[in-house]
Amino acid sequence: MDSPAFVRRPSANLPVVCESDVVVVGGGPAGISAAVSAARNGASVTLLERYPYLGGLASGGMVLVLDDMHNDTEISVLGLAMEIIDRMHAKGLCVYPPEEDRDPAIRGTQASWEKWSRWGVYDFHTHYKPHPVIFAAAFDPDGFKQASLDMVGEAGVNLRLHSWFQSAIVEDGAVAGVIVETKDGTQAVRSGVVIDATGDLDVAASAGAPFAKGSFIVTTVSRIGGVDTDAAERFQFGHPKEYLALERRAKKIIRGCWDYWWLKTPLPGVVWCNCPHMTGFDGLKVEDLTAAEFEGRRRMQNLLEFARANVPGFEKAYFVDFAPQTGVRQTRLLDGEYIVTKPDVMERVHFADSVCRGRDYYTPYRALLPREVDQLLVAGRHYSATPQAQKLSREIPPCMAMGEATGIAAALALQAGIKVRDVDVKAIQRQMRAQGADPGDVPADNAFVGEDG
Ligand SMILES: Cc1cc2nc3c(=O)[nH]c(=O)nc-3n(C[C@H](O)[C@H](O)[C@H](O)COP(=O)(O)OP(=O)(O)OC[C@H]3O[C@@H](n4cnc5c(N)ncnc54)[C@H](O)[C@@H]3O)c2cc1C
Repeated sequence: MDSPAFVRRPSANLPVVCESDVVVVGGGPAGISAAVSAARNGASVTLLERYPYLGGLASGGMVLVLDDMHNDTEISVLGLAMEIIDRMHAKGLCVYPPEEDRDPAIRGTQASWEKWSRWGVYDFHTHYKPHPVIFAAAFDPDGFKQASLDMVGEAGVNLRLHSWFQSAIVEDGAVAGVIVETKDGTQAVRSGVVIDATGDLDVAASAGAPFAKGSFIVTTVSRIGGVDTDAAERFQFGHPKEYLALERRAKKIIRGCWDYWWLKTPLPGVVWCNCPHMTGFDGLKVEDLTAAEFEGRRRMQNLLEFARANVPGFEKAYFVDFAPQTGVRQTRLLDGEYIVTKPDVMERVHFADSVCRGRDYYTPYRALLPREVDQLLVAGRHYSATPQAQKLSREIPPCMAMGEATGIAAALALQAGIKVRDVDVKAIQRQMRAQGADPGDVPADNAFVGEDG
């Protein structure tokens, strides 16, 4: 029997389950920061997340190093990113090199490399080796979930988990809330400002804001336990030739990974594998995301077998888990009031309306503002950047900094009764500083200050 290509859905009156000044959609690094920041600035905030936990790729995606927050000799991302690091560190669930172990950013030493590189806390952007050890933080995914819950709870955010964003409510050219799907039926949530922190630009796309489509490698991240990491490191640094020969064989099995295929975590004997790199998968498509699970697991099962048989320290290794969230790095990207380019990032172009920073680059407020749609802000990996620029500027701390800035902007707009696009950028910068964050208003010594900066 031929089946029809479409089915018609009846329209319905939906219950408005809550109303708040600000709605943040997506409880990942950017969304948590946006919600906490808006709430601490006096707004009533609802945070909607599809999964039963907070953290997005940082917890569910098991992306376990907070990096891209160090420029030369200074820490360039502070504020809420540093707060979550401090909270996890206090519980023994986060590890970072103390100041005396960090190298000058222009030069690494073999001693610090041997001590810290397996934590992933080095500057992989340098073209020479050993890479310098810098400030970055290796953390535990459940530690991130708990710290996030603590932060949103203490800030008085109305958290609604298990809520899948479905569509934006747009009235007179402005977003006035969102519709979500839940076990309890379809629900509406109304607000004065919406912050899209879905990572895939779900809200802005639904609201009709212009966007581009990008793509990048996809990864099924996993953790392996039962590893004698001391033995593995002794072998690596004591027998470099044999180690390199084994690495070559391992990398043939993985078919795509960064320098190291395993890194240490705060849990003894548990390592995380930020691999394999898989191409040709669209992070928005059910078929591709399903196929990626088969492909990623297949490669990693083969790798574990190889490691158990050949790599010192891995003889008794086993999988602890594969990340519940597929590692999608890039999908839709906002085509906003300004589109950050690769040269902007590479040449450290400073913008007068910078509201947050990454390692050594600056993010203008305009890159968080959609065109054509009002009362909507975006924060996180889907911000307004070219696909090439996003690949270099999408790490967790800068996404948290974007969230922090948008939370302030939303609160300021509502207090003044104005549109988010009309908020005084200097006021956002001042408030970022007041709450311990770095808006990038003052260019660092290595910044390029052109006409716009
Ligand atoms: C494999 C991999 C390795 C990486 N390595 C590193 C690294 O080592 N260090 C680093 O700092 N960064 C790394 N990154 C980048 C970093 O993890 C992301 O760019 C960052 O997490 C983006 O944060 P975000 O809040 O913008 O988005 P996300 O982390 O994707 O969070 C988005 C949130 O929105 C929720 N959401 C999405 N759609 C909906 C919907 N329709 N309804 C309700 N909720 C929704 C999601 O569940 C999630 O909680 C890596 C990324 C990947 C994939």
